[in-house]
Amino acid sequence: MSEEARSLNFIEHIVEDDLKNDYKKEELRFRFPPEPNGYLHIGHASSICLNFGLGLRYNAPVNLRFDDTNPAKEEKEYVEAIKKDVSWLGFEWDTECYASDYFQQLYDWAVILIKNGKAYVDSQSSEDIASQKGTPTEPGKESPYRNRSVEENLELFEGMKNGEFSDGAHVLRAKINMASSNMLMRDPVMYRILHKAHHRTNTDWCIYPMYDWTHGESDYIEQVSHSLCTLEFLPHRELYDWFLDQVVSSDKLRPKQREFARRNLSHTVVSKRKLLQLVEKGVVAGWDDPRMPTISGLRRRGFTPESIRNFADTIGIAKRDNVVDVSLLDFHVREHLNKIAPRVMAVLNPLKVVITNYEVGKEEWLDAENNPEDESAGSRKVPFSREIYIEQEDFREEANRKFFRLKLGGEVRLKNGYIIKAESCTKDDNGNIVEVQCTYDPKSKSGSGTEESLRKVKGTLHWVSIPHAITAEVRLYDRLFTDATPDSHKERDFMDFVNPDSLEKVTGYLEPSLREAKIGDQLQFQRMGYFNVDKDSTPEHLVFNRTVTLRDTWAKLEQKE
Ligand code: ATP
Ligand code: MG
Repeated sequence: MSEEARSLNFIEHIVEDDLKNDYKKEELRFRFPPEPNGYLHIGHASSICLNFGLGLRYNAPVNLRFDDTNPAKEEKEYVEAIKKDVSWLGFEWDTECYASDYFQQLYDWAVILIKNGKAYVDSQSSEDIASQKGTPTEPGKESPYRNRSVEENLELFEGMKNGEFSDGAHVLRAKINMASSNMLMRDPVMYRILHKAHHRTNTDWCIYPMYDWTHGESDYIEQVSHSLCTLEFLPHRELYDWFLDQVVSSDKLRPKQREFARRNLSHTVVSKRKLLQLVEKGVVAGWDDPRMPTISGLRRRGFTPESIRNFADTIGIAKRDNVVDVSLLDFHVREHLNKIAPRVMAVLNPLKVVITNYEVGKEEWLDAENNPEDESAGSRKVPFSREIYIEQEDFREEANRKFFRLKLGGEVRLKNGYIIKAESCTKDDNGNIVEVQCTYDPKSKSGSGTEESLRKVKGTLHWVSIPHAITAEVRLYDRLFTDATPDSHKERDFMDFVNPDSLEKVTGYLEPSLREAKIGDQLQFQRMGYFNVDKDSTPEHLVFNRTVTLRDTWAKLEQKE
């Protein structure tokens, strides 16, 4: 979709209004603020496309800000993975920022709040503090430490910072209103003591600022105009503004928090915490397992940045949380791969076919077009011989007229090759068909220009020549969860819905041109789907992932039910 043709989403309308009233165009600045406690997932892609999309639309800078205030869960590995994923999606950030770079500034501001009587050190346990919170309809109870003197607060807070106390001994709380109808305004915690090394500040700090205290002030430090977050932060907006009120100066830009809906994808979970469980419990092989809805999993599976961006643009930005069907994501990757993926032939469930009137030992190299959607893709040669594999599913002894594949007495065209006719078949002791004997029409070769070569038969099959075929491990994926919304069930854990058959490994027989395939290469195995070369692949042991089938097989199954 071209930028002009698309109508504005509601966030863009907000920005347009702000441009009329509050900000100059050159003051616009956005940020994408992941917490480095896991890998990015497809939900984050929506937020990335939104923020960086705004940057492109208004020619405004977009910061990549790591919200790294919790050393208990955060790691450098995640920082690196996040940077890689944002770049891979095709976006360039203006400045790489870390909330941890603002620890000193945040501390200095907290001291000012204490001096202004707006913050105090509470020495109760977290349980006691929680028990005094009240309920949405009942006011909370004030802490017995709420009216400590400024001097005492300053001394204790400094002691907290200097490591004089153990974890949990004290917290710093904002002094707002224990009777506020917004529970978040009931003297929220600003700092806690945590004797834990941070991946960037190491042991410089043993007190760490909480999300609410950090986020808005970070936006202010970076002079972000629009701090876009998901809807669960709507009630936090009042606190975001309160914290800003304590520090903003009139000559600087005042950031605004605005909210949009989380995007959920069907048949998976989009929460780093839950994805971490899948990794830790060994349900998947890692964060980049091709079944994971992470950006790195999708990349390894063969999704392209274009397909993910197009998906995010199509679903757009919503005001209410919702679940998008995973088949829409598949649609977008099919659409893109159809344009760019070379066509090749590979048989995944082989049935031997002997062409009895083809000379023993003869081979021919047939012309095969690489991509009918892209003339510049050129052509290649595929070998043909007396013995070939076709798919088991492509042959039946008997079938009705709607079966356009091979049946006894029937004809099909071999893709890029000849018309063959099934004459007989051989079975093993269990009645399984193990070989089909065919004859071929020597004048029917595709592209040879003869009358026979133009003869229409109903079915065209892919195939590979047995003596020329190379083998590969082919990994076929299914949905990771059997339920459309695995984490929406009150009584059952999302883990109960893990699909035990989400990965099937088969041996594929491939045309020999694939011997040169490199990790990441994307191909269409004709009639079978789009595949790519997995990172586990070596020249001795090729490994392919099925990115997606050619058609939406689930839609068909669901219609039948
Ligand atoms: P998770 O629960 O997976 O950890 P999060 O919101 O805590 O998600 P952050 O790292 O804090 O993860 O997210 C960075 C940004 O991405 C935030 O602005 C957040 O609102 C946004 N985001 C996260 N998940 C989604 C989602 N499913 N849809 C849209 N935006 C999302
Ligand atoms: Mg989070």
